[in-house]
Amino acid sequence: MMTAPKQPMLRGELRLNEPLKRYNTWRVGGSARQMYLPADADDLAVFLDSLPPQEPLLWLGLGSNLLIRDGGFPGTVIMLLGRLNSLSIEGDEVRVDAGVSCAKVARECARANLTGAAFLAGIPGTMGGALAMNAGAFGGETWRHVISVETIDRKGNRHKRNADEYQVGYRSVSGPADEWFTAAIFQFEQGDGSAASAGIKQLLARRAETQPMGAASCGSVFTNPENDHAARLIESCGLKGYRIGGAVVSEKHANFIINDNNASANDIESLIKYVQQTVLDQQGVELTTEVQIVGAVA
Ligand SMILES: Cc1cc2nc3c(=O)[nH]c(=O)nc-3n(C[C@H](O)[C@H](O)[C@H](O)COP(=O)(O)OP(=O)(O)OC[C@H]3O[C@@H](n4cnc5c(N)ncnc54)[C@H](O)[C@@H]3O)c2cc1C
Repeated sequence: MMTAPKQPMLRGELRLNEPLKRYNTWRVGGSARQMYLPADADDLAVFLDSLPPQEPLLWLGLGSNLLIRDGGFPGTVIMLLGRLNSLSIEGDEVRVDAGVSCAKVARECARANLTGAAFLAGIPGTMGGALAMNAGAFGGETWRHVISVETIDRKGNRHKRNADEYQVGYRSVSGPADEWFTAAIFQFEQGDGSAASAGIKQLLARRAETQPMGAASCGSVFTNPENDHAARLIESCGLKGYRIGGAVVSEKHANFIINDNNASANDIESLIKYVQQTVLDQQGVELTTEVQIVGAVA
């Protein structure tokens, strides 16, 4: 007798109506209809294949570049942090899963006497987010070091792709549609690990001097226009300290918006729009958000 093939069992964790405030650095937003935390990449493939073909998906790293609206996310959030979590180094090549934090990559590279990864130390995200955003700082940029990436599509099919299959720019990356990163192979330079560790300390100290560390923010809200700085434009409009509800333009760095008093996502989005309009009216420059705004209005 023939029996139907068994659906493989899911080994990850499915959470229904999961509040998203705790998963983003602004600490705002509503709930996800469901969130999946896969056991590993094979398990993720089985889960994705089980979803309806049009299911809205949100891939979430550390939520350090996301504004999730107060109405939450009416679909499935995929959470890789701490789940796809392996990192291995062979010579000057580093294979990193998408759920590994950027800070860990910087530290492990320095420990293995590799240089060029120090810029990742102060980026409070995962490598999945860094690949999606081409995260960068102090002259370093994620995709400058990518050899290849591993991706997964909606049906759970896995792909290995070379860096040249992607169009990469300042905080922008585009490539094959409906595929998300599960891992990447990077190349860094062999060198002096203790100099790399010292570099990390210096970069972190420079951040603490210029950025409102410890405050609930999303880092830079706007990308820098060509040959200018968003922070300079915002400051010259006198917007430092400008507030809507619980959201305020940082006094320390004008391109940061802080949730300093129970802000809603709507307070933050209204402040973003106000800053954009004021800079356009007074300086004639249209600021573009670096932050990704997702979800439903409450
Ligand atoms: C204090 C502070 C300082 C910051 N400084 C910097 C800086 O110096 N330079 C800089 O570039 N950024 C900076 N950022 C912004 C942010 O840390 C980076 O953009 C980071 O790369 C986002 O990673 P994440 O894991 O938090 O991604 P998330 O915010 O969770 O997601 C960001 C985007 O990436 C997508 N994404 C996440 N994981 C995947 C995946 N596996 N596959 C495909 N898409 C995915 C999400 O869907 C979303 O569109 C800063 C943020 C803060 C709060």
